Amino acid sequence: MTKQVENKFIPYGHQQIDQDDIDAVISVLQSDYLTTGPEVNRFEAAVANYVGTKYAVAFSNGTAALHGACYAADIQEDDEVITSPMTFVASSNCVLYMGANPVFADIDPKTYNIDPIEISKKITDKTKAIIPVDFTGQPCELDKIKEIATKYNLVVIEDAAHALGAEYKGRKVGSISDMTMFSFHPVKHITTGEGGIITTNNKKYYEKLMEFRSHGITRDRTKLEEDHGPWYYEMQSLGYNYRMTDIQAALGTSQLNKIDGFLKNRKAIVEAYDEAFASISAVKTPFQKEYNDSSWHLYVISLNLDKLIVSRKKIFEELRKANIGVNVHYIPVYYQPFYQERGFQKGICPNSEQLYETIITLPLFPSMTKHEVKYVVENVISIVTNYTKSGWDDFK
Ligand SMILES: *Cc1c(COP(=O)(O)O)cnc(C)c1O
Repeated sequence: MTKQVENKFIPYGHQQIDQDDIDAVISVLQSDYLTTGPEVNRFEAAVANYVGTKYAVAFSNGTAALHGACYAADIQEDDEVITSPMTFVASSNCVLYMGANPVFADIDPKTYNIDPIEISKKITDKTKAIIPVDFTGQPCELDKIKEIATKYNLVVIEDAAHALGAEYKGRKVGSISDMTMFSFHPVKHITTGEGGIITTNNKKYYEKLMEFRSHGITRDRTKLEEDHGPWYYEMQSLGYNYRMTDIQAALGTSQLNKIDGFLKNRKAIVEAYDEAFASISAVKTPFQKEYNDSSWHLYVISLNLDKLIVSRKKIFEELRKANIGVNVHYIPVYYQPFYQERGFQKGICPNSEQLYETIITLPLFPSMTKHEVKYVVENVISIVTNYTKSGWDDFK
């Protein structure tokens, strides 16, 4: 195999910005509104329409949106909220913002998503909500999670930062849980630079989200305790400035127009990876439930370390040396010093911990070229094969 190192670094994720996106942003810069105005309304309507909900509330980023959802769900100090450790820290940090306690439930070792049986085991009389995370874009067991939530009167806040465009049993992610969060960070499916949104069908949640993202202030005449005149507004709760700008929203609407193409390109790359690695015994490719249609935010391979003479770290380093922007998603959240200091012990979610030792995220983004895909495939195969124990044939 010819092994010429690419001189251009291939990142694990990258935005695709076209001229129409640039034009959309420029026209906002030339308009009267820069911050929250008509473009935010338009973007919210477009996202709500895309996922099929009545409401969507845009935020300055996905983490702020999760914070808003925790507020809308009325999470109080000392409440417990169950989430997955196989996620970005924001999924559980939002619980800490409320003075509440995250509780980690282990993943299903097949799908890498939170296991509903493990959720059930973690329920106490303090449990208030569940934050399932659609890891890599594959929806969680949303029907089972809803069943548990209904039984124990819990709110489901779905962290779908990876899952814009994904489907669960024929239903679009975003329309299923009580509230669903999407992120528009540049590595996600569509971008607004920084940005996030909550989709919901619940009017009460919608109103609380609107209030929370803008200082807790309302101008709704029917809700005011007093009314001094047209200038009058009331701050009725402690909110934040978590608003999205019209500059961001215009980019978001323009990007959303192209989501089908983005998803299609991601899928084609995944198929190429799946096929290329099918016969490599030390590489486990991602598994998807038959009723799930993943949006493929990430392509995570798991190494069979028994078959290798080196560690995951060595394989990772070799891939980085080849200028391939591999990554690891994720370090179990409670491994973080901040969580360790709060008493979370290693060992509480063994499936997540075992998975963490074996995973590598390969580059996957819509504008990735066929040449780049081929380059990644060839390098993964040659590096892994090079370190595979002799005696292992290369067929699964
Ligand atoms: C990206 C991400 C977030 C946070 O989104 P931001 O927009 O970056 O704040 C939350 N959860 C998961 C799983 C994510 O991947």
